[in-house]
Amino acid sequence: MNVTETFSSMVFDDTTMESRLPKEVYKAIQRTIKNGKHLDISAATVVANAMKDWAIEKGVTHFTHWFQPMTGVTAEKHDSFISPKEGGKVIMEFSGKELIQGEPDASSFPSGGLRATFEARGYTAWDATSYAFIKDNVLCIPSVFCSYGGEALDQKTALLRSMEAINKQALRVLKLFGNEDVTSVKTTVGPEQEYFLIDKDLFDQRKDLIYTGRTLFGCRAPKGQELDDHYFGAIKPRVAAFMAELNEELWKLGVLAKTEHNEVAPAQHEMAPIFTTTNLSADHNQLTMELMKRIARKHNMVCLLHEKPFAGVNGSGKHNNWSISTNTGINLLEPGETPYENAQFLLYLCAVIKAVDEYQDLLRISVASAGNDHRLGANEAPPAIVSMFIGSDLEEILEAIEKEVPYDSKEKDIMRIGVHTLPKFPKDTTDRNRTSPFAFTGNKFEFRMLGSAASISCTNTVLNTSVAEVLRQFADILEPAEDFEKALNELIKNVIVKHKRIIFNGDGYDDAWVKEAEKRGLLNLKETPDALMYMLDEKNLKLFESHRVYSRTELVARHEVQLENYCKIINIEALTMLDMARKDIMPAMSEFTKELASAALVKMQLLPDADCSYEKENIKSITAILGAMNRQVKRLEADLLDSKSISDFAELAEFHKSVILDDMKQIRISADEMEVIASAEKWPYPSYGKLLFGVR
Ligand code: ADP
Ligand code: MG
Repeated sequence: MNVTETFSSMVFDDTTMESRLPKEVYKAIQRTIKNGKHLDISAATVVANAMKDWAIEKGVTHFTHWFQPMTGVTAEKHDSFISPKEGGKVIMEFSGKELIQGEPDASSFPSGGLRATFEARGYTAWDATSYAFIKDNVLCIPSVFCSYGGEALDQKTALLRSMEAINKQALRVLKLFGNEDVTSVKTTVGPEQEYFLIDKDLFDQRKDLIYTGRTLFGCRAPKGQELDDHYFGAIKPRVAAFMAELNEELWKLGVLAKTEHNEVAPAQHEMAPIFTTTNLSADHNQLTMELMKRIARKHNMVCLLHEKPFAGVNGSGKHNNWSISTNTGINLLEPGETPYENAQFLLYLCAVIKAVDEYQDLLRISVASAGNDHRLGANEAPPAIVSMFIGSDLEEILEAIEKEVPYDSKEKDIMRIGVHTLPKFPKDTTDRNRTSPFAFTGNKFEFRMLGSAASISCTNTVLNTSVAEVLRQFADILEPAEDFEKALNELIKNVIVKHKRIIFNGDGYDDAWVKEAEKRGLLNLKETPDALMYMLDEKNLKLFESHRVYSRTELVARHEVQLENYCKIINIEALTMLDMARKDIMPAMSEFTKELASAALVKMQLLPDADCSYEKENIKSITAILGAMNRQVKRLEADLLDSKSISDFAELAEFHKSVILDDMKQIRISADEMEVIASAEKWPYPSYGKLLFGVR
C-alpha cells in the first residue's frame, strides 16, 4: 500500500474540494470551515453535487448524516441517491438541502425529556468544520443533532460551542500580549485509545461479554500482568495483522494513526493518533472505535472497549492529550523562548490550574459511567480525585512566584521572578508521573481519567468551557489595567496562592493521598451517582449558560440521561448475572457434585477404605456455596423488583450503586470460588486464562 497516496483518499478533504469545486464556491466553503460563516443554499447545491460525483466514482450509492447522539456511539440512517425518472429509470441526485439538513425520526434516542414524543422529529445539520467521508460505501456527512426547539441532542453541538467560547476568550488574552496577527484559537487533542482483543469463538461462549462487554464472573488465571512481559512486548501475528488493517482503514479516512503497542494487561493494546483539532479528533476517535470493533471481527477476534472487561488486570482508559493553539501555529501551553512568551505561557498555565480546581467536579462528571467506576481509583488508574501534576521545575517556579523569592534556574543565574525577568524554562524535564489524573507533559496536558469506551466530546467540552471562563475573568481584570505587567504579576500570584491545592506531584495511587486530598478540600467522587450530584450546581449551570454551551434545560436533560444510563447498564448486568447463575453456573455445579458423588460411591464399592477426601470435601464446599449463591440470587432478584418502585432517577442510581452492585459482588464471589474448585470440563464458560491468553 502506498500510504502517501491512499491517505485521506476516502475523505472529501481540502485538496479534493479545491480540485472539484469552482473557485468561488471553494472560497465560500473555506470561510464556513474557518470562521463558521453560513453557507448559502446555492453554494451548498454545488458542493453536494461535487460530493455526490466524487462518491459515485468510488462506488457509493447512499449517503447519511453521521452524528453522535447521547448514547456514546455514532448513529446513521442511510438514504440512497436514487431519484425516479420517466421511463422507469432513476438518476442519482443529492441536493444542497439534503446536504445541509436531515430529519431522522429521533424518538428512540435518549433526550432526557427534551423531546416530547409527540414531537419525535429531530434534525441533523451538516458540521462543515469536519470533512465528509466514505465508510462502507456510504457517503457520511458529519452532523450535529438537535431537537426542533434547537436543543442539542448530541455530543458534538456542545463541543463546537465550547470551542467557540475558548476561541473568543483566548483571543482577548492574546491581544493583551500584543499578538495582533492571531485570528483564531483552537484546542487540540490526541486521544490514546486502549482496548482488549480476544478470540471471537471464546467471546461467543460468554453471555456476560455479549450483553455487557465485561466479564461478570471469572476467577484469576494463574498468570496475570505481574511479569510486565506484555507491555511493549512483541506483537503477535494475528494482532499485528489486525493493527495493519486498522491503520490502513484509518489512514484512508484521514485519521493520523501513529503509535501502536501492547499495553500492561495481557490481551490489551493501545493506538494513539497524532493530535488534531478537537472536534475532528472527536470524530476520528468515534471512527477509530467503530473500525476497531469491525476489523477485529474480520480477524475472528472481538475488540473490547469496556473500561474493565476483566477483574484483576488493568482496565482501559483513553488519555486525552489536550492543548491550545493559535492559527499562527503557536502552542499556548509550550514554554516560550523569551521571558515575555514565558509570561504568556504562565498565564495560560494558571488558567488551566484555576479551571481544573474550580471545575474538578465537572471534569470528574465528564468521565463518569458505570464502566469507568470499576477503573477509577483501582490501582491501575488515576484515583477518582482530580489533581494536577506539573513537574518539579514548574512547581519550583510557581513557588518562587508565590513567595516572591528568587528562582534558581537550571542555568544557575539567580533571577528575581517578575514577568519581565522570568527564566527560560528547562524544556520537557517533566518527570513522567503516571499516577496523576491531569499531568502536564511539557507542552500539553494529559487527562487520564477518561474511560476507553467514552466519547471524548464531553470531557473536552468541560475543559474548553472551564478554561474559557477563567480566561474571561483574566481578560476582564487585565484589559482595564493601567500597569499591565504589575496586574499580570499579581494575577498569576493570586491564582497560585488560591489554587495550588490542586497541584500534587506525588503518587496518586497512595492511600496517603486520599487523606491529604481530603485535608486540602478536594473532592473524592468515587462513583457515578456521587459525581452526578454536583452536576446541576448553580456554578456549573452558570458556567455553561454564560458561554452558551448548554442551556439550563440541556444540562438538566444531560444529567437525567447520565443517571438513566447508569441505572440501565447496571440493570442489564444484573439480569445477565441472574441468567448465567440460574441457567448455567448453578445447574453445572449441581451436576458436578453429582459426578463427584457417583465417583466416590463407585470407589467405595470397589475399595471400602478408599480415600474419597477429594470428592467429599468438594461436594461439601460446593454444596455450601451453592446454597449461599441461591440465597444471593434470590436477594438480587428481590432488590431488582424493589428498584421498579423508585421513580426518582437520582434515588434509583443510588440504589443501583449501593444495593444492586453489592448483591452482584456477592454472587460473583460465590461463583468464582466454585470455579476454582470445579473441573474445567464442568465449568460452563471459557476461563480467564483462555480469554486473556487465547489469541496467539
Ligand atoms: P506519551 O504520552 O507517551 O509521551 P506523546 O507525548 O508522543 O506520548 O503523545 C501522546 C499523544 O499526545 C499523541 O496523540 C500526540 O499526538 C498528542 N499530542 C502531542 N502534542 C499535542 C498537542 N499540542 N495537543 C494535543 N495533543 C498532543
Ligand atoms: Mg501518554
